[in-house]
Amino acid sequence: MQEHPPLATSLPRVAPERRHLPASLCLYCGSSTRAPASHLALARSLGQLLAKEGIALIFGGGRIGLMGAAAEAALAAGGAVIGIIPNFLLRREVAHDRLTELVVTDSMHERKRLMAERSEAFCILPGGLGTLDETFEILTWAQLGLHAKPIVLLNHEGYWDPLIELIDRLVANRYVRPEHRALLRVAPDLAALLPLLARLPQDTGIEDLDRV
Ligand code: AMP
Repeated sequence: MQEHPPLATSLPRVAPERRHLPASLCLYCGSSTRAPASHLALARSLGQLLAKEGIALIFGGGRIGLMGAAAEAALAAGGAVIGIIPNFLLRREVAHDRLTELVVTDSMHERKRLMAERSEAFCILPGGLGTLDETFEILTWAQLGLHAKPIVLLNHEGYWDPLIELIDRLVANRYVRPEHRALLRVAPDLAALLPLLARLPQDTGIEDLDRV
């Protein structure tokens, strides 16, 4: 596994009591039913952690893959789980029927907008093309100043190393500003997630993404 410095190496120093965790976290992750067992285990651990911390899980609403695993684990641990799924994916992603709330949208765009609006922070677990799409969308919305919510890439077992390397190359070629690269905080494992999710007092999340 290649060693890479985290994209955001450190947060500004603030007293612990002035930091607070988000009330809701949006999860972007793979929907594959053939995901590695360690990735599914990670998703379950994340679900349990969110329930324990009282952080509502906002996700794509499906029963399959890592997203289904995280939702099941959070529900089993007594957490709040809100699924947001477009009509046309109800069958393909097997909409979960025991969620705290299931929102069915008319389009994928509406799904992604609602997921972003209802979440106070974002976490990316291993996934495929859909996960990449969601990651870059929320990252570029932050780059454009449309929101200021924390985005954490969970680099489980170095899964996202090639992506980090690619972003480093974009920065080296001056296509991406270092301060925009730093919008993507990197957690090497689940234990590192919560401190990176803590929103700083000066962060003012823009709740209304209508300008997108
Ligand atoms: P994947 O990482 O391909 O398994 O997709 C993870 C989630 O991303 C699924 O719930 C997809 O519905 C969703 N997704 C969001 N945007 C897209 C997109 N442009 N193409 C494919 N899937 C997407």
